[in-house]
Amino acid sequence: MNKKLYVISGCSGVGKGTIINEFMKRNGKDFVLSVSCTTRSPRQGEVDGVNYFFISKEEFEENIAQDKFLEHAQFAGNYYGTKKKYLKEKFEQGYNIILEIETQGALQVKEKMPEAVLIFIAPPSIKELENRLRGRHTEDEATIQKRLAQVKVELERSQKYDYTVINDNVERAVDEIEKIAEKEISK
Ligand code: 5GP
Repeated sequence: MNKKLYVISGCSGVGKGTIINEFMKRNGKDFVLSVSCTTRSPRQGEVDGVNYFFISKEEFEENIAQDKFLEHAQFAGNYYGTKKKYLKEKFEQGYNIILEIETQGALQVKEKMPEAVLIFIAPPSIKELENRLRGRHTEDEATIQKRLAQVKVELERSQKYDYTVINDNVERAVDEIEKIAEKEISK
């Protein structure tokens, strides 16, 4: 059966990490979550090669120059990108792949691979989103403000996505993503 690339985006703090973790718990046999490269520093508990490949700005820019990324973008002052080679390896191992990336990168993927399925996770409301972002206690106020400013832009870009899933409830949102995957795989 054809293996698919699913791109999942959502505004900062929308809870997409929780949704993807739950999806992977249920579907880890067939799906793999892509590990991106980033120039940002690891947060507490993050492990190189597991959460991200943490690389320097110089190394990242070298990879851009050598056309090693399927997509890359700058977000909140750091580079993030998906290596073509990583995806190729995972497809060869027989997995469907999930990219958890922001919207600029997602739209680059759609251009290069129109068969990729773009899913946007939206908050029930903007106020709710702000509360979640503050409740996370991992970023300082300036970073929170920067990320909230991104929300508007991302919601606009999400109009080009194939699906929007509202995160009103984690289990329900994961059920909906599973239904999307079933439908797409049978296409
Ligand atoms: P964080 O720093 O919170 O881990 O991620 C910040 C943003 O970067 C999130 O929206 C996340 O989805 C996005 N991101 C993570 N990896 C990639 C990537 O490889 N490419 C792009 N374009 N965005 C990414």
